[in-house]
Amino acid sequence: MGGCIAVRVRLRRQSSGRKIPGKTSRHLQCSCPSQVPDTPRGRSQERGCLATLRGSQDTRDRPGPVLLVKSPSMRRWGAALLAGLACASEPSRPVEPSNYGYKGKEVWVNGPWPAITSSRDVDEVIDQLCPAIMKLPRAAWRDYGQEYCGVIYSLGDGIYRASYPSPLGPTVLVGPAKRKQCQPPRIVHDALGRAVPWADYHSHPWVPSEMTEDDRRANLQLFHIRIQFDAGCTVMKLIPYLSEDRPGEMYVRRGKQWVLTGHILPEDKRSGRFTPVDE
Ligand SMILES: [Zn+2]
Repeated sequence: MGGCIAVRVRLRRQSSGRKIPGKTSRHLQCSCPSQVPDTPRGRSQERGCLATLRGSQDTRDRPGPVLLVKSPSMRRWGAALLAGLACASEPSRPVEPSNYGYKGKEVWVNGPWPAITSSRDVDEVIDQLCPAIMKLPRAAWRDYGQEYCGVIYSLGDGIYRASYPSPLGPTVLVGPAKRKQCQPPRIVHDALGRAVPWADYHSHPWVPSEMTEDDRRANLQLFHIRIQFDAGCTVMKLIPYLSEDRPGEMYVRRGKQWVLTGHILPEDKRSGRFTPVDE
């Protein structure tokens, strides 16, 4: 999965900030695959790429280096430089630490997260989450991965918003790897009003990855709904029905539909045991 990819080549007129008819310059941009194979070589390539890009510019602000080539000789020089960049993965922008934190033992997050468009249709919000989360550092690195947790909420106006994701949580040893779990936030701060949480959401860094029993256990539910997705963006929804004498329901998102996959029977709500339905 190594090697640079020229993802955008375009021509435009420019010279010393002044446009000159007929004179062209070429912009070349290097980008890399968003996921690396979970192997020592893949991880090494990822580190090499990020180190290379950091040497040429601040990777937090741009998707990749841009080379401005103004003359045939410079164009050759630029092409050589481009070929020499050892990219293996797209650099990603971390979530700013000022958008999440601990208050006592609880995690708080800010909202709304600008990466997600708010909507009156909560499924439109849910469908945007996984692709945005998977651009964050280590979101798909399996045993070496980082989980992200956030909240879907409203301000009482019928519009659903997603909070920033938080990476805060315990580190879990998985053999020689150190995976970072996330702790679902309980508190959302939105400068425009009082946030009313509707669901929590979180990612798993593998694919495929079902909800765990802990994800389904009654005493670990915070809100009405729990949304989870794996690194392949299979999205799952749990409706625990904690205060009702009816089974909890598990769904998977297929296209624009929620498909029922199983129940958590009333006697199993404490343990989170899952009973699949025959499709
Ligand atoms: Zn989970």
